[in-house]
Amino acid sequence: MRDKAVFLDRDGIINKDIGYIDSIEKIIFLKEVPQEIKRLRAEGYKIVIVTNQSGVARGFFTEEKLGEINQEIVRKLKDEGAVIDKVYYCPHLPDALIEKYRLDCNCRKPKPGLIIKAAEELNLDLSKSFIIGDSERDIEAGKRAGCKAVLIQGRGSKVKGSKKGLKTEEEKLKSLKIRVKGLEKRVKGGKLKANKVVNSLKEAVDWILKENR
Ligand SMILES: [Mg+2]
Ligand SMILES: [Zn+2]
Repeated sequence: MRDKAVFLDRDGIINKDIGYIDSIEKIIFLKEVPQEIKRLRAEGYKIVIVTNQSGVARGFFTEEKLGEINQEIVRKLKDEGAVIDKVYYCPHLPDALIEKYRLDCNCRKPKPGLIIKAAEELNLDLSKSFIIGDSERDIEAGKRAGCKAVLIQGRGSKVKGSKKGLKTEEEKLKSLKIRVKGLEKRVKGGKLKANKVVNSLKEAVDWILKENR
């Protein structure tokens, strides 16, 4: 029998989303994470992190450094009794600075590639699995892979482009237009909407455990 899993986004769910995280020192764990992972594991869920890390493609940090950071996250959580089965990341970007990572890949969320790869490698039943994220990209990736999706609102929930600060009015207007377009697309594609929107990881886990009873 295949296992069920809960996929967790990294930045904004496990640790604070403070932009591109290029060192271990920038990992600030969100408080409720270990206990909520333990609650899910107690109910038989595997725990898998799925994370977009375009900082690699942008040349902000190496894939090796990313590996160290992820390892440290897994180690610290394990110290708290919260076991992560595996971390899957996407280092790509279609217009990457680093040629090696310049790819319109299938694994950058909202595409479902990371989740599908995890399902194959870890023998997971995606129809019994969930994703918890703080952005629409996470939700869409999860839904496209056949999982149920829980959105934690009011965290990073950043819209593309907001990280670097937009300078001109023209840039702001362009960004707004993209947002509206994205929103329209999402509303039309209702099947890609979150199954549940919550305000905390605890609420997300409460809902998953209730939903799957
Ligand atoms: Mg996030
Ligand atoms: Zn990728």
